[in-house]
Amino acid sequence: DALAALIASRLRDVPDFPKPGVVFKDFTPLLADPVAMRAIVDDAVARYSGEVDVIAGIEARGFMIGTAVAVALGVPFVPIRKKGKLPAATFTASYDLEYGTETIEVHQDSCREGQRVLVMDDVLATGGTAAAACELIERTGAQVVALDVVCEIGFLRGRERLGGHRVRSLLSI
Ligand code: IMP
Repeated sequence: DALAALIASRLRDVPDFPKPGVVFKDFTPLLADPVAMRAIVDDAVARYSGEVDVIAGIEARGFMIGTAVAVALGVPFVPIRKKGKLPAATFTASYDLEYGTETIEVHQDSCREGQRVLVMDDVLATGGTAAAACELIERTGAQVVALDVVCEIGFLRGRERLGGHRVRSLLSI
């Protein structure tokens, strides 16, 4: 559709970043285009207005997209951060990367029992990050309405790691 085409035109492929053989989807041209950012926000508002109580965004580009959508929806924004960045009491989840592990955290008091939370990020790749983020939100007692990403890298099959969660991507490649 038109939004997917617009987004595709604003993502820059950077070969061999962060390591040889990886083609990195660079979001900076998208962030630099307020028309495209507005289209993403409007799409999220049309889809989720009245359906979500909180937006949770995954560090770091999930902060940028998630905060913009949260302001437009008029709901709170909650950051999910790399270990050691959040100052108050946290829940912690670890997941495997190709080499080693990554740990992310959320404030224990960031969401309340029963709240409907939309988890947002820029890219769904293997799904490890998003699965850990959804687990963290559920540990607060809240429920995950869906995982919403701008771009899904289909062949990495991230969706399959998201269990029963609804997954929506604006662009699938
Ligand atoms: P996953 O855990 O393998 O699904 O990786 C997803 C996480 O890595 C997200 O938080 C993304 O921000 C980041 N990521 C992975 N690949 C890319 C990419 O090509 N461009 C931008 N971010 C990426």
